[in-house]
Amino acid sequence: MDMISSKDIKGLHIEPTSKCNAACPMCARNLWGAVTSDWLVEKDITFSDLKKMVSPEFIKQLDYVVFCGNLGDPIVNPELLQMVEYVQTHKEKYNAFGFDYHEEWGHDPYPAQINIHTNGGIRNSDFWYQLGEVMGPNPNRVIFSIDGLEDTNHIYRRRVKWKNVINSVTNFKRGGGRAVWEYLVFKHNEHQIEEARKLSEDLGVDEFLVKKPIGWTQTQENVDTIDAFEVYDTDGSFSHYIEPAEKKEWKNIQVINKYVLKKPMLENAEGKLDFSLMTHKQKHFTQWEIDGAKDFDEKIDAKCMKKETEVFISYDGSVFPCCFVGSSYYNVNNNSYDYEFKKLVEGLGLDSINGVKHGIEKVIDEVWFKKVFPKYWEGKNKLGVCGMFCGKKDIIKSIRENERDV
Ligand code: SF4
Ligand code: SF4
Repeated sequence: MDMISSKDIKGLHIEPTSKCNAACPMCARNLWGAVTSDWLVEKDITFSDLKKMVSPEFIKQLDYVVFCGNLGDPIVNPELLQMVEYVQTHKEKYNAFGFDYHEEWGHDPYPAQINIHTNGGIRNSDFWYQLGEVMGPNPNRVIFSIDGLEDTNHIYRRRVKWKNVINSVTNFKRGGGRAVWEYLVFKHNEHQIEEARKLSEDLGVDEFLVKKPIGWTQTQENVDTIDAFEVYDTDGSFSHYIEPAEKKEWKNIQVINKYVLKKPMLENAEGKLDFSLMTHKQKHFTQWEIDGAKDFDEKIDAKCMKKETEVFISYDGSVFPCCFVGSSYYNVNNNSYDYEFKKLVEGLGLDSINGVKHGIEKVIDEVWFKKVFPKYWEGKNKLGVCGMFCGKKDIIKSIRENERDV
C-alpha cells in the first residue's frame, strides 16, 4: 500500500463541541432521545487550542473544512465565529487554487470550502446575521437539519423550537450566507416534503436536500424487517416511535451492525426505562464477539490512505483518521468493533493523539499512518470498524450516496 502523509490531506472535519441543545433519538450523545449518555463529557474546543492544532499553512493545503461532529452541534461552541473567521481568512489568503471557484467554474466545489451542520435551534438573531456575513454567499454554506415543519420537526429533532429555526435561517440569509435545508425523511414527515421545499424557497434558502436516514436495521438478507425506534421521556416513560418512511422512494434499510447484542432488560418495576442499566455496555462483550468483528471483510480499502483524504478532530482535541473511528472511540455502542477500537486507542494512550499537544500533522504521520493502521488493515489484526466502513460493504459509500438530493 502506498504510504501517504499529512501533506496529502485535503479535508478537515472538526467537532467544535460535544454539547447540544437537542436530543435526537438516534444520536450517539443521548439515550433514546431522553437523557445524555453517561460516558459523554461535555466540552468545547477553544479557539486558542484550534490554532495550536491547525496552522495557517495547514489550512492552505485544504480544499474544505467541515464543522460538524458526532456528539454535538457546532453552533453551541461560543467561539465558533472566530474559528470560522480564522479558517476563512487563511483560505482566502492561501486558497490552494488561488481563485474564486464560483466565478471560474460557474459552480462550487463539493463540499464547499466551509460547511457547518446544525439543527438551527440556538443562538440569537445577531449571531446568525454575523455568521452569514462572515461566511458570505460562496463557496461556504450552513446546512440546517430541519426534518419537517412546525408540527413535525421536533418529533425527531427533540427540544428544537421551530420559531428559533426560522429565526436562524432568516437572519443567516439576511447576513448574506448560503443556506441548505437538509430534510431527513421519516414516516411522520414524508407527506410534508413539498410544503417544506416551498417554505425553503420563501425563506430564500439556496438548496433543499432530501435525505434517507440510515440506521434502520434489516436483520436478515432480503427480509424486510424494519425496526421502529423507541423514544422515551426523561423519566423513562415511553413517548413515541420514530418509524421509517412508508413510501418506497424514501425507504432506506441496510445492515448496519452484524453483531448487535440483545438489549439487557431495561425496565424497572414501574415498567419505565431505567437509564442506569444502560451504562458501560462494553462490559457485555466477550472475546468471541471481539474476534467476530474481524470477519467483516478480507480486504480493507482504506479511504484514509488515499490522496485527498479527510481527517477528524474531536471535541477534546484528539485527532483521528476519520470521523467513523472517532465515533467508535467515544461511543462504545452495541458493537464489538467499537470496543476493539477503544482498546486500541487506550493502548496508544489518548495523549499520543492529542492535536493540541503534538499538532495535527504529527499525530497523523507518526501515529496513525505509520505506526497504527497499516498493522490493522491486514490479516488477523484487521480492525472491525475499518472492515465495516472501508470493507466490501463500504458503508461510507452508501452514506455518501444518501447525502445526495433524492
Ligand atoms: S442535533 Fe446533532 S448533535 Fe444534537 S442531538 Fe441531534 S444529531 Fe445529535
Ligand atoms: S474506517 Fe478505518 S480504514 Fe476507513 S477511513 Fe476510517 S480509519 Fe481509514
